[in-house]
Amino acid sequence: MSKYRLAVIEGDGIGPEIIRSAIAVLDKVAPHCFSYEKLVVGGVCLDLHGVPITDEAMQACKDSDSVLLGAVGGPKWDNLPGHLRAERALLGIRKELELFANMRPAKLFSVLKKASPLRQDIADRGFDMLIMRELTGGIYYGERGRKSDARGNTIAFDTESYNQTEVDRIARVAFEMARKRRKQVCSVDKANVLESSRLWRERVHVVAEEFPDIELSDMLVDNAAMQLVRDPSQFDVLVMANMFGDILSDEASQLTGSIGMLPSASLGEDKRGMYEPIHGSAPDLAGKNLANPLATILSVAMMLKYSFNMPEEAWRIEQAVEKTLLKGHRTKDIHDNDTPVLGTREMTDKVLQEL
Ligand code: NAD
Repeated sequence: MSKYRLAVIEGDGIGPEIIRSAIAVLDKVAPHCFSYEKLVVGGVCLDLHGVPITDEAMQACKDSDSVLLGAVGGPKWDNLPGHLRAERALLGIRKELELFANMRPAKLFSVLKKASPLRQDIADRGFDMLIMRELTGGIYYGERGRKSDARGNTIAFDTESYNQTEVDRIARVAFEMARKRRKQVCSVDKANVLESSRLWRERVHVVAEEFPDIELSDMLVDNAAMQLVRDPSQFDVLVMANMFGDILSDEASQLTGSIGMLPSASLGEDKRGMYEPIHGSAPDLAGKNLANPLATILSVAMMLKYSFNMPEEAWRIEQAVEKTLLKGHRTKDIHDNDTPVLGTREMTDKVLQEL
């Protein structure tokens, strides 16, 4: 009998293709360990039920041991009002499951240096960082709305707010992660302007006292955006508020060569998490067997490591991906002129062969 129940959301666009790859890898590396409950969420759910996620699907996520997600959304649903956008489903799951810590590793595989947009001498130094993004607070969840001033001018507003508990718990996870890595945390904020950032900085320093073995530095977000392209090798763990993390992790992802390579994990207080590639549903590639499946496959490795205490199996997946790349196998997004282009299925087969 399967030990763990996985809620699986294929979603839209390339979602079904990359999830198929991820499940094939999971079944190979941990046979009979997981049962899968496929849930209809995102644009497909809007078409069927008129909402991005149903109460039943949300409950199934809550009842699961973890959630594996492809991607949701696409042009067909892009112009719906905010509360009906496909991405609302994800915000809902993160909030309901209290997944406050989003981990996005960004590592430059040495064999993919040519695919990175960085200048060669910078790429040669390599980088391996972990971006920790606060996921259930800040401006994406703050009060928002529209109003008119006395002259009938329309005003739109969104509110950034954090309480100290929210900052403390993400800071703690960041320090704990740094302990397993190179023992450095850089906290990113905008404390020269924003009050919420000043509280952020204060609390990160209070939590740092619990971790005397970790070196803490602060950096303003505008400087961090610049340093990421100037010298990304300086970073180990970066921790930041929701919106800053959203933006800087996409920037970091591009430095690795392709958004199709980067996994992510969202965790709460307990072991359950949601695992997904950082890219979206890539409607331009959907159904064409062109998507890079590696980000989703590497998300499965993160899931085994962080939610199911299976580090050995996680390591095997990471090794298989690395060997696949070393042998020169490439999907379209990461290929250079010397390598043939493989489709999603063929690339998945190469990884399966390495397992
Ligand atoms: P996107 O990440 O889907 O695509 C950006 C670019 O990266 C495109 O050129 C695409 O072809 C490429 N790309 C993405 N994934 C790839 C992969 N695995 N392999 C190769 N190339 C890949 O971002 P977008 O175009 O801004 O958004 C498309 C839709 O996805 C939108 O509806 C957006 O709202 C949604 N979205 C969903 C999520 C999510 O489900 N977590 C995240 C971001 C965007």
